[in-house]
Parts: sequence; structure tokens; C-alpha cells
Amino acid sequence: MAEILDGKKLRDKIFEDLKIKIDKMSVKPTLAVILAGDNPASAIYVRNKKKTAEKLGINSIIIEYPSNISEDVIIKKIEELNSDKDITAILVQLPLPVHVDKFKVIETILPEKDVDGLTSYNSGKLFLGEKPYVYPCTPKGILLLLDEYNIEIEGKHVVVLGRSNLVGKPVAQMLLNRNATVTMCHSHTKNLDNIIKTADILISAVGKKIVGEKNIIKSNCVIVDVGIFKDESGKVRGDVEFDEVFESASYISPVPGGVGPMTIASLMLNTVELSEGSRKLGR
Ligand code: NAP
Repeated sequence: MAEILDGKKLRDKIFEDLKIKIDKMSVKPTLAVILAGDNPASAIYVRNKKKTAEKLGINSIIIEYPSNISEDVIIKKIEELNSDKDITAILVQLPLPVHVDKFKVIETILPEKDVDGLTSYNSGKLFLGEKPYVYPCTPKGILLLLDEYNIEIEGKHVVVLGRSNLVGKPVAQMLLNRNATVTMCHSHTKNLDNIIKTADILISAVGKKIVGEKNIIKSNCVIVDVGIFKDESGKVRGDVEFDEVFESASYISPVPGGVGPMTIASLMLNTVELSEGSRKLGR
């Protein structure tokens, strides 16, 4: 029977420590969030980030744009935030409106203010096995969760489902940097079920039901379910059929309550880390 990887519990512990740390900071971190367009889910995520930041003593501002905003306006705003020494962290909420080039926009963020760790500088450092300013929030949260439960990574076969720049690729690289043997799968992968069966650790970041009754996981597999979506009945669920794998897995992260809370915890950790770094850099 699996033990639950409790993201909420670890998030609360991280927040307690962070609050004490932030209380002692003479200059508080300031997180600027750019929200462009009218995606209702994005608007909720951004408000939650602001609320959480403020509870911890982090200043936060939201810069909102309508969906017909030009790319140039967003880029100019980021340049302004880059040179504003009071702003220590910048986040661009994705997705951006379709006519806006997200790579160009993200690339404008100064790497030392890139709180999502998504600029080519920070992801390049990660892929070179060097230290970026910060690691991307969801992958960082996943590793914190595995470490909290003392799950061994070195030498383990990790199967990552999904290869997005946000989750799949960086988490695979972070685990490789920790000496795991990593297999990355995507929508063109053949014999997925056979690969899943070989996983000591399975990380699923797809966004649809992918590990269900037809799959047999390896006994004692550790399952991290990143996916989150609503099924036909409107119920929020993850990629993995929880009840089907619960008996044979050794650990499993629930949805909700697993990776989601760890992503927000990592965002707050990153915001504080960048602020500490900015003082070291004398900005
Ligand atoms: P994404 O950009 O949509 O990527 C999905 C990935 O899944 C793609 O690489 C795709 O392959 C792959 N895929 C699709 N069908 C597949 C299949 N049948 N077998 C194997 N792989 C398949 O998504 P994302 O941004 O990484 O997010 C993934 C999920 O995690 C979503 O549900 C998202 O909401 C959730 N998420 C949760 C958190 C959190 O904090 N809890 C954070 C981020 C994301 P191709 O590359 O070949 O298309």
C-alpha cells in the first residue's frame, strides 16, 4: 500500500520557515507578475500567487493586459521591471495570447530576476549541470517532495511522461544531474506500457489519463502525478488512476494536494532566493 507524498504538509512547513526568514529581511522581496489575456484559470493562479506572497510578507504586483496587447508593450514593461531595483522577481503567466511570442518575452527577463527559471540562461545552466539562479518551480517542487520522503534517486530508473519546457524536460534533467537513469516519453513513444513497467520512479506530466488499469506498474514504484485536468464529470484529477496503483506503489502524490502545493512553495522559495541574490549582486 502506498504512502502519500503530501505536498500540502511540506508546503506548510516550507511556508513556516520562509515566513520567519522574510520577517528578518530588512528589504522584502518583490514579485512582479505579468498577466496578459483573459484566461480564467490564469487569472485565478495569479491571484492565488499574490495572496500567498502577501501572507508570507513578500510584496507583489500584478500587471494586467487585455488579450489584444502587443508583444512590444509586454517586452517594454519587462525591460522596465528589469531595471527597477525594487523588483526582485519577474514572472510571466503562461499561456500568453497566441500572437505573442512567449520565447521572446521570457528571454527578455533578466536571468537573475527569472523566478520561473525558464530563460535560456537558467535552463542552459541546468542542462550543463551547473547551478542556475533558480530551478523551474514544478520540477524543483517534485525534487523537494522526493527528498522530504528520503526517496533515493541515484541509480534509479525514472520514467518521465511529457517533455514540456515547463515540467518534463527540466525535471528529467534535474534527476539526471542527481544520477538517475532517465527515460523521457511523449506522444510519439512506442510501447509506453512496457516502459512504464520498468520505472522505479514514474513522473507523469501529460494532462490526461495515461496510467490506468491497463498499465501495470513495477511493484514499489514511486509515482509523482503532475497532471491536472477536469474529467467529463467536472472532477479535478491527475494522469494516474490513483485507486488502480495504490496497492502496488510505494509512494504516490495525490491530485489535488501533491505537486500543486509544491509548485507554489517553490515559487515563493525562488522569490526569496532571487532577492537574497540581488543583495549579493548589489542591485
Ligand atoms: P504540455 O506542454 O501540454 O505537455 C504535455 C506533454 O505530454 C507533451 O510532451 C506531450 O507529448 C505529452 N503527451 C501527450 N499525450 C501523451 C501520451 N499519450 N503519452 C505520452 N506522452 C503524451 O503540458 P505541461 O505544461 O507539461 O503540463 C502537463 C500537465 O501537468 C497538465 O495537466 C498541467 O496542467 C499539469 N501541470 C501541473 C502543475 C502543478 O503545479 N500541479 C504545474 C505544471 C503543469 P508531445 O511533446 O509529443 O506533444
